[in-house]
Amino acid sequence: MAKYLNQPSREQIAEIAGIAPADVIRFDHNTSPEHPDWALPLAAEQTHWLNEYPGADYMPLRRAAAAFAGLDVDRVVTGAGIDELILMVSQGLLEPGGRAAAVTPTYPLQRVATLNRRANLDELMLAPPDFEPDTDTLLDAARNADLLWLTVPANPVGNRMADDVIDAAIAATDGVVVIDAAYAEIAGDEWTSWVMDHHNVVVLRTLSKAFNLAGARVGYAMGHPDLIDKLDRVRAPGGISSLSAALGVAALGNLEAMNATVESLIHSRTTLAEGLSSLGWRVLPSATNFVLCEVGSAAHAIADATLRQGMIVRSFHSQPLADYLRITARSPEENAKLLSLLSQGATRLP
Ligand code: PMP
Repeated sequence: MAKYLNQPSREQIAEIAGIAPADVIRFDHNTSPEHPDWALPLAAEQTHWLNEYPGADYMPLRRAAAAFAGLDVDRVVTGAGIDELILMVSQGLLEPGGRAAAVTPTYPLQRVATLNRRANLDELMLAPPDFEPDTDTLLDAARNADLLWLTVPANPVGNRMADDVIDAAIAATDGVVVIDAAYAEIAGDEWTSWVMDHHNVVVLRTLSKAFNLAGARVGYAMGHPDLIDKLDRVRAPGGISSLSAALGVAALGNLEAMNATVESLIHSRTTLAEGLSSLGWRVLPSATNFVLCEVGSAAHAIADATLRQGMIVRSFHSQPLADYLRITARSPEENAKLLSLLSQGATRLP
């Protein structure tokens, strides 16, 4: 079976750096630096009910997600983050022996879920300098696929595929197009009309990024009611804790807070990108809260050096990204701390 390879834990990093786990700064997980402390009273209230199971239909959460997305509730199903939804998609919408296609590199769980379903995966290799998929190759792959995985905006690159290419891929296939839209709010994407206009599109959304709730594990899928029903059939009845579901409802109802988070994430990404460019590195355009930058053959040495200081960035073990680092935009102070370390290292490293 294929396996998802995890990054080191906060505790492991703390041990390497000789610091307290709370002082580790994660520039590798594309999470927001904002702590959802507003959730404390709600969590205290919900704790009283932890002796009971959550309502298995998760109706309050489904309704909140549907209202946020501007859809009827039968077009939405919940999951424990996009991660669980990816597993549900592979089980509910892909048969063993079926054909899926995805670009590579992309979010690795799409590949893991496809292979563990014993389906075939057509991998379209992206190439530097811009890592845009070739449109004809993508449309050929879509034509031959039962399921096409797209990640919009992309991870780990951060760029956003053009609407007309997505549209052409949807039109080209008789299969289902699954759009992993983890960073949709940051990119300003709504996806509502795509789901209304196409019977073969599923969009995966999360509260892990723009809603500051990565640890709560809350996500949802949007799509045609028939596809949503297929996903609901493979859903665990209690996959999301009642605590997390309640936090999800509250977060989805506070658009002002989400918009403020998005604004600060974009600001942080912009200043981080400027700081990295001023070190002489090529920073790729990003519609997300992270940037991919080309740092050359010292990529691993740089990643090791930051790790030893308790700051983890994402490096890659294989081509085409061996010379690149992916860096999450954190708070201005955290970004400055990393940039300061990188500027010392950049002069010393090969
Ligand atoms: N898809 C993409 C493209 C991601 O970048 C991530 C998180 N890094 C996920 C899915 C996982 O999201 P979740 O926390 O909702 O499981």
